[in-house]
Amino acid sequence: MYKVFFITLGCKVNQYETECMKSSFVSAGFSVSDDKSSADVILINSCTVTGSGDSKSLYAVRKARKDNPRAVIVLTGCLPQTVPDIYEKIPEADIITGTKERKNITGHVLEFIEKKNRITDIVPYGSHDDFEVTEYKPSFSHTRAFVKIQDGCSCFCSYCIIPYARGRCRSKPLDILKKEINTLAANGYREIVLVGINLAFYGMEYGMRLADAVEECSGINGIERIRLGSIEPEMILDKDLERLSRIDKLCPQFHLSLQSGCGRTLKAMNRRYTPDEYYALTRKILEFFPDASFTTDIMTGFPEETDEDFEESLAFAEKIGFAKIHVFQYSPRNGTPAAKMKQIPKNIKEQRADRMKALGERLHSQYLERQVGKTVPVLFERENSPEYHQGYAPDYTLIKILRKNSEKSLRNRIFYVTIEESRRDYCLGSITTMHNS
Ligand code: SF4
Repeated sequence: MYKVFFITLGCKVNQYETECMKSSFVSAGFSVSDDKSSADVILINSCTVTGSGDSKSLYAVRKARKDNPRAVIVLTGCLPQTVPDIYEKIPEADIITGTKERKNITGHVLEFIEKKNRITDIVPYGSHDDFEVTEYKPSFSHTRAFVKIQDGCSCFCSYCIIPYARGRCRSKPLDILKKEINTLAANGYREIVLVGINLAFYGMEYGMRLADAVEECSGINGIERIRLGSIEPEMILDKDLERLSRIDKLCPQFHLSLQSGCGRTLKAMNRRYTPDEYYALTRKILEFFPDASFTTDIMTGFPEETDEDFEESLAFAEKIGFAKIHVFQYSPRNGTPAAKMKQIPKNIKEQRADRMKALGERLHSQYLERQVGKTVPVLFERENSPEYHQGYAPDYTLIKILRKNSEKSLRNRIFYVTIEESRRDYCLGSITTMHNS
């Protein structure tokens, strides 16, 4: 039996897709390995959202070849989908595929093992692709499962390569979603995270809304928590919030992609909201979800971003009071309009990223301090410390409790915890009562 080792870069959608590829390899008679050096096949599921995503993906391929010269190396995902001459660029990869029709990968591996000829199979996107349904047999290695419900993006923000890497918006049909969530529940999962490339566009082609998917999942016994991946702010309407707020299982954690807190920069980015609209949305969410936490992504050094623009972005992030900020530096993506604009020097991008990160850390500490004194239900996760049990509150605050000698694992159980202290990136508390498990 051939053994396959998987490496995943990038976002939660990629993590879900790697799980699907694991399922299809297992169905084809392969086994999943956790040892790269003895694997027969090493598969790298790549990312191209930034220049750093590209470099990390290519480095992973070269390192895999060096670490295990006899393995079949498969490069798949967003990077090959967008780079036409990828075949010449990375001779270390034996098989190269994009983000489409990856069900063929197992067949390609078997063919390569037999014939030893390099294979490239990158299927281009058209204007009306259907949502690709893939095999998914969860292994229950984590307590939380990502579930892709939407793919593609039709927005074309001026800096973003993703519409080229993923095609246009399309959604997983509700009956397939229901079946998948039932399987997850039957395998012991109590928490799911609905993810997509542009999640808030879920169901548009069927005249549905994201709330339809959340309601469908909420009706499934065994699933107790539903989280949402990153959402685009302009798509969340009052009527959506009204519906979502009636779903008890939905965790009040909102990752609202901001990118910049400066109106001029947002316009140049072809984003579809102003800072005022974004701010109003967060206040509206708080009306429906008083315990909501807000997290976001912010880009620094977008072309032509001035010092004043950046200061505005910084001040806006502070005004929102994010619980967490994922900061990244702009990097030009070939074929996007922003790549042709006047670029910001590297050192300025770095300085701005450092300042935004420092703000993010300060806001995160302040957010954690505000949690002290609250009693929250915590779903405990994998035991990876002899000192603590740990899990997450509904707002995604990481909570730890001290572990007593010989105490049984709390994994996948929910307890109410009273938060007593905040530390650098988590809160410490003690169990008050059991929830329902
Ligand atoms: S909404 Fe904009 S940033 Fe997000 S994937 Fe689509 S084009 Fe990229």
